[in-house]
Amino acid sequence: MRVILPDETELELPDGASGLDAARAIGPKLAEQAVLVRANGSVRDLRLPLAEGEQIQILTTRDREDPDALYVLRHSAAHLLAEAARRLYPGTKVAIGPPIENGFYYDFEFPEPVTEEALERLEEEIRREVAEGRSWERRETGREEARAYFEEAGEPYKVELVDTAEGDISIYEQGDFVDLCRGPHLQNAEPIKAVKLLSLAGAYWRGDENRPQLTRVYGTAFFDPEDLEAYLHRLEEAKRRDHRRLGKDLHLFDFSELAPGMPFWHPRGMVIWNVLEDLRRRENARRGYHEVRTPQLYDSELWRTSGHWDKYQEHMFRVEIEERDFGLKPMNCPGHCLLYSLSPHSYRELPLRLAEAGNLHRNELSGVLLGMLRVRHFVQDDAHIFCTAEQIQDELLACLDYAYYLYDLFDLEMRVELSLRPDNKLGTDEEWDFAEEELRKALAATGLEYVDSQGEGSFYGPKIDLHMDDSLGRSWQLGTVQLDLQMPKRFGLAYQGDDNAEHTPALIHRALLGSLERFVGIYLEHTGGELPVFLAPEQVRILPVADVHKADAESLADRLRAEGFRVEVDEREETVGRRIRDAELAKIPYVVVWGDRESEESVSVRRRGGEQSVVSADALVEELRSAARL
Ligand SMILES: [Zn+2]
Ligand SMILES: [Zn+2]
Repeated sequence: MRVILPDETELELPDGASGLDAARAIGPKLAEQAVLVRANGSVRDLRLPLAEGEQIQILTTRDREDPDALYVLRHSAAHLLAEAARRLYPGTKVAIGPPIENGFYYDFEFPEPVTEEALERLEEEIRREVAEGRSWERRETGREEARAYFEEAGEPYKVELVDTAEGDISIYEQGDFVDLCRGPHLQNAEPIKAVKLLSLAGAYWRGDENRPQLTRVYGTAFFDPEDLEAYLHRLEEAKRRDHRRLGKDLHLFDFSELAPGMPFWHPRGMVIWNVLEDLRRRENARRGYHEVRTPQLYDSELWRTSGHWDKYQEHMFRVEIEERDFGLKPMNCPGHCLLYSLSPHSYRELPLRLAEAGNLHRNELSGVLLGMLRVRHFVQDDAHIFCTAEQIQDELLACLDYAYYLYDLFDLEMRVELSLRPDNKLGTDEEWDFAEEELRKALAATGLEYVDSQGEGSFYGPKIDLHMDDSLGRSWQLGTVQLDLQMPKRFGLAYQGDDNAEHTPALIHRALLGSLERFVGIYLEHTGGELPVFLAPEQVRILPVADVHKADAESLADRLRAEGFRVEVDEREETVGRRIRDAELAKIPYVVVWGDRESEESVSVRRRGGEQSVVSADALVEELRSAARL
C-alpha cells in the first residue's frame, strides 16, 4: 500500500499500516514525537490504519500551535483530569469531557459538592500522573462488553452513552482509567508540558434541565509552558479590557433588564457617538452621498417584497396595528428601495447614494445578547447606492477607498473576505457569476489581498467583508460592501436611460464601521479604553493645586474650550496625587497641573502613557490641535 506525504513523495507501507507505522518508516524521532495523523485533511488517531492513496501529514509535538495537535493534547489532558477526579474523590461518576476552543472540560458528579479549592488539588494530581508517566491504549469493543464494563464500574452516564452511541464502540485506557471515546489521543502524556484548571461551573447532563446537574471543570493544556503563560496573560487582558466593564467604569453606557440588549448612552458615551456621527456626515457629504430618513415600521408586504419575510422573519420584531401585520426594520435597504420607487429617476441622477444612520432592531435571543457586541437595537453607518451596470466598478472602488480612509484614522489592521453565493440565494447563476466577478475585479484593482468565503454571501448578493484583527489577536467583522441585483428587481425599481428605455439599476449596500454600538465595544477592547484624542470624551483635565489656583485653571479651561477641546477642571478637595491617579483611571489623554509655578508661559502637562513636560499655553493649544485632528 502507498500513501502520499506532504512533499508529494510516496511512502510504501504494508497493508493495514497505521499512522504510527508510517511515522516509524520515516524515522524513529518522528515516531517518538508524533501526536496525530492528518489523513486527507481530517484528524485520525495514530493507532488507526491508513488507506491506499491517502494524503497524510504527521503532526508532532513541534506543531505546538496547530489547532488539531492542541485538540488531541487537550482531549488527552481531559482524560487525565477524569482519572484524577476518580482517584481524589472516590465515588465520582464521570460524564463527558471534550476539547473545546482554547481548552477542554470534563463533567463530573462528585459524591460531595466541591469548591474552587478542588481545582488546585486536581491540577496537582494531573501533574503527578504526567510525571509518573501515562500512555493510551485504544481498543475496539463490542457494545455489550463496554456496557458491562461501565455498569460494573458504577458509571451510569457512560452506560447511557454506550446505549445511545452510533457506530462502533472504542475505549481508551490510561493508568487506572478507562473511557468510552472515539479519540484521537496522544501516544503518552509526555507532550503535556503545561496544564491549568481554570474554573468550575454547573452543567445539566446532556444540557437537559430535567436531568442531574453535574460539575463542569474547565481547563487548558499546551505543548509549551510559555504558551500557557501567554494564554493566561491574554485572558487577564481580555478581562481587564472587557468593554462592558470599561463602559461602566468610564461612564459611557449601561444596560437595563427592562430593555434587554438595548444600550443606554451616558453623556460621555454620547460624545463618542457624536464624534462618529459627525465624521460619518462630513465624509458622506465629501463623497457625494445624500442623507435620507425612512420609517421604523413597515407593513409585512414590504418585507415580503424584499424577501426578508421568508428569509429573516425570526430575527424581526413584529407589531400588529389595526389588524395589519407590521415589522420593525432590521436593516435599511427595503425602506431605501421603497423611497427610490416613490419618484421617477433618470440616468442623469445616477449614481444615487442614499445614506441613513437608521435605528435598527433585530430579535436576537436573550441568551446570545452580549454587551455592545450582540444587541437588539443599533445604528449602522449604512448607505445604498443605486447605479447603472457601467458605474458599478467606480462605486465599489469608492466604497473601498472610503472604508480604508476610516480604518486608517482608527489605525486598524484589516483582513478581506469575499463572501460568495449561499445555498438560499435569490436569482440566477448568471447574475451571481456577474456580481461575484465585479467584486473580484474591484478587489484586484485595489491590490488588497483577500480570501474566498464559500457560501457566506447574503441571500441577495455576494459581498466584500472587511474584518479587523484586534490587539488581543481576535477578529471582528466591521465593514461590508455588497452588490445586489435582486432587490431592485423585486421592488420593480427603474430609471430612464439615455435611450429613453426603462432599465433596472444595480444596488450596492455598504456599511463601513458597521453597527456603531458594536464598533464602540470592539474599539474599547482593542484600545483598552485609551481612545485617541479625537475620540476621547474628555481630552484635557486641569487640576488646580490649591484654591488660589482655581481662577487660573478655569481661565485656561475656557481658552481651550473656545478652541473646541473637551476640558474639565477637577477642583475636588483631594490631594494632587489622588486626582492625577483618577485622571489616569479615566484614561484622560492630557492632564494639566496648575500650581504656584504655572503661568501662561509655563504649563505643566502630563500625557497619557507618562510623558511629562512644561510648555507654553500656546504650544499646548498647538499640540492639542494636531492630536485631535480628524
Ligand atoms: Zn476521550
Ligand atoms: Zn442594505
